[in-house]
Amino acid sequence: MSDKKLETDITIIGGGLAGMTAAIGLAEHGFEVAVVDMAPQGDLTAAGYDGRASALAFASCQLFEALGIWKHMEPYAQPILEIRVSDGPSLLSLHFDHETLGDGPLGHMVENRHTRIALFERLKEIKGVTLLAPERVAEIDRTKEGVTTTLTSGTVIKSDLIIGADGRGSLVRQHAGIPVSVIDYKQHGIVCSVEHEFSHCGIAHERFLPSGPFAILPLCGNRSSLVWTEKSHLTDTIMGLSDRAFESEVRRRIGDFLGEVKVIGGRWAYPLTLQYGQDYVADRLALIGDAAHGIHPISGQGLNLGLKDVAALIETLVDARRVGLDIGAMSVLENYGRWRTTDNASVYAITDGFNRLFSNDIAPIKLLRDVGMAAVDQVVPLKNFFMQHARGTVGDLPKLLRGEQL
Ligand SMILES: Cc1cc2nc3c(=O)[nH]c(=O)nc-3n(C[C@H](O)[C@H](O)[C@H](O)COP(=O)(O)OP(=O)(O)OC[C@H]3O[C@@H](n4cnc5c(N)ncnc54)[C@H](O)[C@@H]3O)c2cc1C
Repeated sequence: MSDKKLETDITIIGGGLAGMTAAIGLAEHGFEVAVVDMAPQGDLTAAGYDGRASALAFASCQLFEALGIWKHMEPYAQPILEIRVSDGPSLLSLHFDHETLGDGPLGHMVENRHTRIALFERLKEIKGVTLLAPERVAEIDRTKEGVTTTLTSGTVIKSDLIIGADGRGSLVRQHAGIPVSVIDYKQHGIVCSVEHEFSHCGIAHERFLPSGPFAILPLCGNRSSLVWTEKSHLTDTIMGLSDRAFESEVRRRIGDFLGEVKVIGGRWAYPLTLQYGQDYVADRLALIGDAAHGIHPISGQGLNLGLKDVAALIETLVDARRVGLDIGAMSVLENYGRWRTTDNASVYAITDGFNRLFSNDIAPIKLLRDVGMAAVDQVVPLKNFFMQHARGTVGDLPKLLRGEQL
């Protein structure tokens, strides 16, 4: 047993993409931070850990830039120049081109592993973050004066605030007794990467198949990341296919526009749900990222929402400290909670609606969505609105996402 004692301004439970970005951002703004993660650092950056790549909105990339992380990600970031959306074999489709807005790419695709490596690289360059991993939480005690986190190793951390960045099953959220609403889509997201003969030209494709969306997302080089949404009861069968049979199913779904296609690396399956905590804050406690909300990957917004939380929380805490307020006080944290719940609620609703609309093959609904897509494709202001959404530049944006310093 360790008898290590730490005193920091903030303890973050969960050193994933949201938690680690928050730690770096808070340390950059003068806070002392302890980050606790149950996985060893080596596991978090191993090729087999995650398998996903994320479509990072333009605004999220600005946050990484502002925090000095982007320079470590940029060599692995593939600009998204166009998005093409189609409904199975229907000829009616939607096409978004970054040139319409004339403002740089719509976003970038980065493998989560490379983002994690970039975060650890940035960590080496800055002061103020103590990473404790692998470590598990034994007890959290919140009082008027502060919050004490005891780890199973015996290490004790005393802080003014605890942040739960510990993903969908958040122990911090459970500790605070924050109820969570869950909708199970009975779908899984099967994820893998492919190498192909022809260039993807920076185009992301989203095809709506009866079991759900099938996304072909461009990575650096002649490689793409696939998110194949499938009904949960078929997932085990697909995951159990031989490499050859799996590759043949993948080729059948992609078609021949990328030439010869080969699956590279492993395959992963993620259960898909919509879940959101009814509060993001409690006394001396705040939730960020998937600990606060998890959405369907149909619009590639989950992590982008988490990064908005990160930027909003940093801004709230920096402002509070500047005027001498207690960063763990409910009156301070409620500002963050209100800001993010209002902004996120519309994204939950849109994402949920899209998935329901596009994950079925009932003829009148199919007709409605095809006509809807064709209409959006023709109406320039509507199309620009969707593109601004993809770029993450709508809503009440925190300064760091607008590329401004605090
Ligand atoms: C198939 C799929 C595709 C996606 N594509 C996109 C996309 O294109 N764009 C996008 O924006 N989003 C996308 N998302 C969503 C995105 O992946 C998540 O929103 C994001 O990974 C959440 O990050 P997080 O840091 O909040 O949580 P997590 O990544 O879950 O990290 C939680 C961390 O906490 C640690 N932890 C957990 N419990 C404890 C504990 N008790 N004690 C200590 N540590 C703990 C874990 O080890 C982990 O490191 C996708 C999701 C899926 C399923």
